[in-house]
Amino acid sequence: MNRLEQGSFALFTDGKRLQPVSLEKNVVGFCSKCEDDLVSVAYHRSDKGWMVSAQCQNQHLVLLLYNNDWNWLGDSELESVPEFKSISSLPREQLEAVFTAAEVRTLEACETGQPYTRQNLYRARAKYEKFEKLFGVKIKL
Ligand SMILES: [Zn+2]
Repeated sequence: MNRLEQGSFALFTDGKRLQPVSLEKNVVGFCSKCEDDLVSVAYHRSDKGWMVSAQCQNQHLVLLLYNNDWNWLGDSELESVPEFKSISSLPREQLEAVFTAAEVRTLEACETGQPYTRQNLYRARAKYEKFEKLFGVKIKL
């Protein structure tokens, strides 16, 4: 599933994070779910061509795919994701790829207001940037 990050309008697709190249609002087609106008939210450039995140008035999101000459190739599913993720909403495998088990426990405890080891929290916070680079997700804490 392609994901559009709220706030930054970065697109996560194929394991990549694409910053928008434009946030122009244009009518780009019709929503296949409700037949309302689709209005562009963000334009993204990929090595295959262009991708346009678009939304109708009923909040249906869709990703329109074009080649380099702006020939429409098709639509793809798109979902909106919050810019910052809580620890509890992240897959354990992702967390453990960057943080130690003790650090994950500390982050979870901190988020839920339980007692935690301050030292582990400092260590974990130092790895936030690495986590963001790997998974395109900012951690909220
Ligand atoms: Zn719609």
